[in-house]
Amino acid sequence: MAKWVFAFGGGSAEGGAGDRNLLGGKGANLAEMCSLGLPVPPGFTITTELCTHYYANDRTYPEELEAEVDRALAKVGEVTGRRFGDPDNLLLVSVRSGARASMPGMMDTVLNLGLNDETVEALARDSGDRRFAYDSYRRFIQMYCDVVMGLDHENFEEILEDGKAGLGYEFDTDLSAEDWSRIVDLYKAKVLEELDTPFPQDPREQLWGAIGAVFSSWMNHRAITYRRLHNIPESWGTAVNVQAMVFGNMGDDSATGVAFTRNPSTGEKKLYGEFLVNAQGEDVVAGIRTPQSLTEEARVAAGSDKPSLQKVLPDAFADFVRIADTLEGHYRDMQDLEFTIERGKLWMLQTRAGKRTAKAALKIAVEMAEEGLITREEAVARIDPASLDQLLHPTIDPEASRDVIGIGLPASPGAATGEIVFSSDEAEELKAHGRKVILVRVETSPEDIHGMHAAEGILTTRGGMTSHAAVVARGMGKPCVSGTGSLRVDYKKQTMQALGRTFNKGDVITIDGANGQVLAGAVAMLQPELSGDFASIMEWADAIRQMKVRTNAETPADARMARSFGAEGIGLCRTEHMFFDDDRIVAVREMILADTEEGRRAALAKLLPMQRSDFVELFEIMAGMPVTIRLLDPPLHEFLPKGEEEIAEVAAAMGVPADTLRQRTESLHELNPMLGHRGCRLAISYPEIAEMQARAIFEAAVEAGQRTGRPAEPEIMVPLVGVIEEFEFVKARIDQVAKAVMEESGVEIAYLCGTMIELPRAALRAGDIAASAAFFSFGTNDLTQTAFGISRDDAALFLEAYRQKGIIEQDPFVTLDIDGVGELVRIGVERGRQARPDIKLGICGEHGGDPASIGFCAELGLDYVSCSPFRVPIARLAAAQAAVAKG
Ligand code: PEP
Ligand code: MG
Repeated sequence: MAKWVFAFGGGSAEGGAGDRNLLGGKGANLAEMCSLGLPVPPGFTITTELCTHYYANDRTYPEELEAEVDRALAKVGEVTGRRFGDPDNLLLVSVRSGARASMPGMMDTVLNLGLNDETVEALARDSGDRRFAYDSYRRFIQMYCDVVMGLDHENFEEILEDGKAGLGYEFDTDLSAEDWSRIVDLYKAKVLEELDTPFPQDPREQLWGAIGAVFSSWMNHRAITYRRLHNIPESWGTAVNVQAMVFGNMGDDSATGVAFTRNPSTGEKKLYGEFLVNAQGEDVVAGIRTPQSLTEEARVAAGSDKPSLQKVLPDAFADFVRIADTLEGHYRDMQDLEFTIERGKLWMLQTRAGKRTAKAALKIAVEMAEEGLITREEAVARIDPASLDQLLHPTIDPEASRDVIGIGLPASPGAATGEIVFSSDEAEELKAHGRKVILVRVETSPEDIHGMHAAEGILTTRGGMTSHAAVVARGMGKPCVSGTGSLRVDYKKQTMQALGRTFNKGDVITIDGANGQVLAGAVAMLQPELSGDFASIMEWADAIRQMKVRTNAETPADARMARSFGAEGIGLCRTEHMFFDDDRIVAVREMILADTEEGRRAALAKLLPMQRSDFVELFEIMAGMPVTIRLLDPPLHEFLPKGEEEIAEVAAAMGVPADTLRQRTESLHELNPMLGHRGCRLAISYPEIAEMQARAIFEAAVEAGQRTGRPAEPEIMVPLVGVIEEFEFVKARIDQVAKAVMEESGVEIAYLCGTMIELPRAALRAGDIAASAAFFSFGTNDLTQTAFGISRDDAALFLEAYRQKGIIEQDPFVTLDIDGVGELVRIGVERGRQARPDIKLGICGEHGGDPASIGFCAELGLDYVSCSPFRVPIARLAAAQAAVAKG
């Protein structure tokens, strides 16, 4: 029979860190900390399997669960010397969620559970503090109603505010026990009024209510959104952790806080965190009171006059420093910790691997490898390749003038410019129209993730470095400035007041996540510096990986950028992009309009020198590295004007009758251009086009080789081949031109002629094709399009619905569909290699820059992946990780 409940406490535990899937992250680590002998309030974890059972059985529990929970509760009682629900020997508990993957703030928590009209008096007696007891009770009612009974906390906040106003108080701390007791009565009355049922007094009923609510919160809207954004499977479920309460709000020798063992923004090896004296857990995260620094050093750096933990509670602080150290060493990773100090005694409530910015991740990985805590392979494996994107984003030019309108906390690095919006829905809407926005909020909540996702950056007026906005923005890699107290946001008027100036919705501002500044208008940005820790990780990755990384580029600027990011050649130069320049398009159109081969050759002769100079530059930039150039691919009508007005304009400029142009445009019209007259089919109809391009390539190779002293390595690629005869026809023309150029120049050119594999037939017949093709480059964009029969240009219209309805997990144009399209690639690789063992194999579809797809390419042993310039570092890292995984 399944075991549903795992106990921990009193120096031992039934599970450990390895049981993450079963116990959730929080539960597994609580158990682990117990076994390490660290001070953890005793408790138990109800497993994620129970969550699965709960949803599979119409939200019901297995029969035996109740007895298991009772046993575990009794055990908690033994360790604490108390009993749940016993007013003479009061045990209160917290109930928290804990999924396998951390989902901060997404699911629900109930604290102080077990309080009722009778036990509140027991708490008052035990603690010797009636004020504290009644404050705890009202907090419990508020939280329980919100989480379990669906009565929004705003109902209670009104009562609290009115009550305080009526009594003439400003702060919660001014209220007496009697005031709190009166507020508790008002709260209970509110519950009865709103829900037509009294607040539950039976602790057992409370407990089961809270357990059910936590399991239900797995399916709440924000948890679902969070999972979708982070690719967390719905099937994982959450665990529930029930734990004896410890109180950080029992007076000035009590406190609660959160900390990271290293700085999660910069990676600096210094304890980093915040705490509040006389407060309960959620207060720190909520960002309602401004928290204090942990260390004196941090306090001084922040220029705060509020004392640090080090100063206020030195003994507990010393314990905490020691434990933080132990945990980081034990887990061999930066930890994110939660703690509570109850009357001077430290309790650990959570440890987990800390979320961090890409910059911090690099620094921490490099330094831990250098400290000998982890290996270089582990360091490389720990960086999320996609997160490198954050580092490749611009920062504000230090020379730029700054019109500073506010300074908040530098909560998440990077700079961003955009229009002000005040709501997440609006952020999402404008983003869909291609606008760039900064989401400006008093504070954010889990309900805002879609808006944060849509925004370029996030600005809040409240909240600390560990506020919701800060934590989530760092995770997303978005710039964020939080707690900008001098700004006043008015949601009703849709304005933001800053130093006497009014900013409206739609006004452009810039935020600088590096120093917390908020600036009016757009500001000049700088490209990032790719040295230091970034360079170290890249160097280690390069030493580990087996696949080469090339880039898809056709302009010199892109090629140079890609080189600076570490590209080792060009894997795809799409020559059609070179035909759209103003000075070329005319000759291209002349060529298309010509009725005879002679006419076409005359137009192509004008293009030849331009095309040649393009290639010379690319060969020079990539000196000594392979450059794959693809012959013209798109249907010719893409180069012709569309619509009467444009036709008339172009006809006039070319000196041809508009009718001629219109007729040619019409005659080239195709119903399915993507499956039409394109790719090698063009070279078969008009071999002179391929010949001109081949000549430009070979002449450029000769010229560039002479200039750089390093022979160029052209690889000429024929697109959209389906049958071997197509390839052989085009290859014969290319070889002929090569021979001619070599004879004319007297220079030997080492070139390869190969093909794209981007049609299912080509993959299946790869054996035939490899007999004459020296290389294959998998064009997985077209291969996905043709394997699925889904138009890559129209897929967005319906694939999102597919994703939402669970028909596909990921967009196959982004992440390779390994089962289907991947099988075609595998067949292509196997049959190609069989026919030609030394065949060069690469990929140049978008998937060449997608980490998961790169893993698959490594598995097949491709020679290289090719991707857009900004993805090159990502691909280098992903290729190294694939090599580590392969072992
Ligand atoms: C492909 O089809 O994967 C490819 C790289 O070519 P294009 O995207 O230019 O069609
Ligand atoms: Mg293609």
